[in-house]
Amino acid sequence: MAVDIESSLTDVLARCHELSMRQEIAEGEANTAIGYFPVYFPEEIVHAAGLRPHALLGGGNRIEVRYADARIGSFVCSICRSTTELGLNGSLKGLGGFFAQPICDAAKHMAGVWGRNFPQQDPQILALPQNVNSPAAIRYVYDEYQRLRGILAQKVGHDISDEAIRASLDVYNENRRLQRALYAIKREDPARLSSVEAYLLMRAGTRLRRERHSELLSAALRLLPERHVRPMDKPRVIFLGGFCEQPPLEMIETIEDVCSIVDDDLLIGQRWITEDVPVDGDPIWALAESYVQRSAASPVQYDARKPKEEMLMEMLRGARAEAAIITAAKFCEPGLDDQLALSRRLDAEKVPYLILEFEEKMTSFEQMAMQVETFAESLLFD
Ligand code: SF4
Repeated sequence: MAVDIESSLTDVLARCHELSMRQEIAEGEANTAIGYFPVYFPEEIVHAAGLRPHALLGGGNRIEVRYADARIGSFVCSICRSTTELGLNGSLKGLGGFFAQPICDAAKHMAGVWGRNFPQQDPQILALPQNVNSPAAIRYVYDEYQRLRGILAQKVGHDISDEAIRASLDVYNENRRLQRALYAIKREDPARLSSVEAYLLMRAGTRLRRERHSELLSAALRLLPERHVRPMDKPRVIFLGGFCEQPPLEMIETIEDVCSIVDDDLLIGQRWITEDVPVDGDPIWALAESYVQRSAASPVQYDARKPKEEMLMEMLRGARAEAAIITAAKFCEPGLDDQLALSRRLDAEKVPYLILEFEEKMTSFEQMAMQVETFAESLLFD
């Protein structure tokens, strides 16, 4: 029985791994996959148009950047360069649209880079409010979402009805419930679900229609309680810094060899909305309101109601973690900016922490493994 459970889980995870590593737009999806540059995007509107949202998460450490360096500055984070490379090497030629958001200077310029190189994909910027605490913020987001709705309606050749958007809200609400259940297992019982496994299960959602992703999550959630697990003696840590450019899988594995990562901000855009989006009333308003009022925190958004240091302490408490691993992607200004405030607070609270830098294209982890091992030993034996 235990063998059956484990082999069924292995099948689900293998499928998620294959999807997570997929860079190309499949031929059958030509012009129906709509690319967006992270962190968060209102996927429900794309879904309601009958299209598939495609999160552009860079090329990881499996592609060689050969052409992009001639089109984009070398001092820019890797996700911008490798995403451009995926465009130039033809992997993304089937995209039916491209949206970037002004989360930072680098991302803001991606629409321009795309427009020069791939004008046929009609790149656009979906603007975000500078001040989410302004009374006008929801209205502003609402107007942008209505503009997005109009662009997509033109692409598909018909209006996108409120009913269609409400149906998509339902699909995504269900998916968010499953994601929350997955993270609850990770927090409560990390021996049952490793961080790498949780990450693959989450990341697969960036390559599938949400209904299909919910099927995978449901299958995993059915199997996990039956899994045979052994207790682990590893320090419980949280991981911060995976909100936009994604750390290599090997980096998460390296940390997980010696620590249990009980909460993180990996792919936080997929979990940006923290509660169900109401399905009565105007669905675009509900989505805009949720973006502003029912949402997570990340370094790419300033929100006076969610001070980063408080969110950090809340995450530590909620996950009963004893330490933090604070990371940032190389050249990521928002991530690096936050490190100072976070480390000061951790110092003040006497919470042990380790700071690491990563690049998605990293391939060598020996030095990092030594740092993490030393950190884990200091937590276990101090
Ligand atoms: S990794 Fe950082 S700098 Fe690069 S696009 Fe994302 S938020 Fe901007």
